[in-house]
Amino acid sequence: MTHEDLVALDHQYTMQTYGRYDVDIDHGKGATLWDLAGKAYIDFAAGIGVNAIGYANERWVEAIYDQASRLGHVSNLFYTQPYAKLAETLCRRSGMAAAFFGNSGAEGNEGLIKLARKYSFDKYGKGRGTILTLKNSFHGRTSATLAATGQEVFHNYFHPFPDGFRCARAGSMDALQEVAGHDVCAVLLELVQGEGGVYPMDQDYVHDLAVLCAERDWLLLVDEVQTGIGRTGTLFAFQQYGIIPDGVSFAKGIAGGLPMGGFLANERCRNVLGPGTHASTFGGNPVCAAAAQVVLDILDEDALAAVREKGRYLRASIEAMGLPPLGATRGLGLMIGVEVKEGWDNRDLAARLIQNGLLVLTAGPALRLLPPLTITRAELDKGLEILKSTLQSL
Ligand SMILES: *Cc1c(COP(=O)(O)O)cnc(C)c1O
Repeated sequence: MTHEDLVALDHQYTMQTYGRYDVDIDHGKGATLWDLAGKAYIDFAAGIGVNAIGYANERWVEAIYDQASRLGHVSNLFYTQPYAKLAETLCRRSGMAAAFFGNSGAEGNEGLIKLARKYSFDKYGKGRGTILTLKNSFHGRTSATLAATGQEVFHNYFHPFPDGFRCARAGSMDALQEVAGHDVCAVLLELVQGEGGVYPMDQDYVHDLAVLCAERDWLLLVDEVQTGIGRTGTLFAFQQYGIIPDGVSFAKGIAGGLPMGGFLANERCRNVLGPGTHASTFGGNPVCAAAAQVVLDILDEDALAAVREKGRYLRASIEAMGLPPLGATRGLGLMIGVEVKEGWDNRDLAARLIQNGLLVLTAGPALRLLPPLTITRAELDKGLEILKSTLQSL
């Protein structure tokens, strides 16, 4: 099939909900992808922070094949080994107490919302279901998670949105106090705002917020859909903030490209959702769980240290190039935002880089880099070379 045939087919038969780049992707290995015509691309995007261990990792492929050959799916009315073992691994390495598995990030956050509301209902009864979120956040595309998202552009078309969310400016305890009230049960936040532009939260702010949550008996809920599974250089970003959340959502990187999401609860909240209160038909599917186990095995402490080191290298290299459209870098680990200077358009820059063989992402007004966590030094250098040759002469 040619590129033109594929584009025509897509336009004829799919809902055009994506502003796609004029590129197709056919297959990949490591952190390199190839299109139908055989052109290579270095990948600084990893899907959108999904392909944590790159493409076609042999251990991952084998685990998927083996599990699919034994049991591809059975309902959650039965016990299955991959589900229980994956939950054990996640809890042991995060210090959380219990896991629930769904299929996406939005669903993970929906689970956190239900967890907080039921915790509060059980203890205080009705009228205490409001969840505080932060401006510029992103929590997903379901009706409730759109309502939770602190960006007005997402609050269009789909009225009526569910209520029970109030939003405060990030980084200010005063702003949070202003929207607080007797109807609040939780705060939900990203520790590095991803879609909003890669903005890490201040350590002191997060600490103060955790103290306030403890004082008011609000649950502290962390959306780690993008920051989790090693992206920031620890398994979860909260492990770098000295806090113990009540609930943590995850998705994107967890199964290395297969659809999986979910959430973790701490000891205090592990029994809030009892039998019949929450469920997912596909959640914790054996094949996805087996794939996730490989991802977590590969992302051991050495690999996480390498993520921190590669992040430093990537940021220092980009800043040292002094490319005309680019300013300072920010982020944690291999979750990197690059400032795009006034007069330049981040989407136009991304399109040029992609055309020249380097996949990058945009977020808010910035360029965003989320390479596979296992990317090699040689692949990083190739990508940096394309960045330089594309942007130095603009
Ligand atoms: C991507 C993302 C989501 C939504 O995840 P889906 O799998 O697309 O539902 C939610 N929160 C954050 C922080 C994300 O980055």
